[in-house]
Amino acid sequence: MFITWGSKTVSRDLGPDGRRHCPTCECQRGFYKHLAYRVHHIMWLFRWPTGVRYASRCDQCGHGAPIDAVQVRADLGKSPVAWIDRYGWLLGIAAVAAFFLWAVLSDPHPPVR
Ligand SMILES: [Zn+2]
Repeated sequence: MFITWGSKTVSRDLGPDGRRHCPTCECQRGFYKHLAYRVHHIMWLFRWPTGVRYASRCDQCGHGAPIDAVQVRADLGKSPVAWIDRYGWLLGIAAVAAFFLWAVLSDPHPPVR
């Protein structure tokens, strides 16, 4: 059996976050909400995210500061982390359980009575 695993960094722009002074650019700049996390996988199905970080970043230089994750999720009405990245591990466990259930129920040699 061939087993794959790995991880990748996911980076998403979550929309504008107003204008204010940027200490790096030393002037007024637009800012945007930014999400970054690392998603790990086994067989591409068992997935789980780590290091989920939200930040407000300058749209010119990228300078940013962490922002409250709860507030960002409340503003968006849902988590911006992809569903498959959050619950892929659960889907993988369900697939393995379904396989074993199928294997038990389709036993070609049922016990003799
Ligand atoms: Zn800047």
